Amino acid sequence: MTRDEERFWSKVQVAGPLDCWPWMRGKSARGYGQAKFRGKTERSHRVAYLLDNGPIADRLCVCHACDNPSCCNPGHLWLGTHGDNNRDMAAKGRAVSPKLDHSKIPHARGEESNLAKITAAAVVEIRSRRASGERRGLIAKDFGISPTHVWAIAARKVWRHV
Ligand SMILES: [Zn+2]
Repeated sequence: MTRDEERFWSKVQVAGPLDCWPWMRGKSARGYGQAKFRGKTERSHRVAYLLDNGPIADRLCVCHACDNPSCCNPGHLWLGTHGDNNRDMAAKGRAVSPKLDHSKIPHARGEESNLAKITAAAVVEIRSRRASGERRGLIAKDFGISPTHVWAIAARKVWRHV
């Protein structure tokens, strides 16, 4: 994790993999987090998406499955066209994301997700693999979580009691 990334995540209230991760600093009138990142002001959820998935193609926007504009949990973000986003806002509550199963967002659907099934044993294993220098992306794949979640577990932002 670079210093820019560390600085960014330190301003996000990182919680469990299924929870919203609100931006804790300045917000726009519409409730979007405003982050300074690599010398530019950018919406915080776009930075969160970029850090987890890489660059965002020009005409695409990062949408919230959770309808919480300041949320920076990469698991709640999906990439769509502006048309998708407008349709999503028009039909709130309907699953329109091509990428994300909305039923996995608990406060939207009240269901359990596979993502919740990270166990204490998995947390211990993730930390020891990170400590031995294994790449976040590889570990993330093995456990079916995002690289940011691997970081959050290794840095004890979540699962502090383990
Ligand atoms: Zn959220």
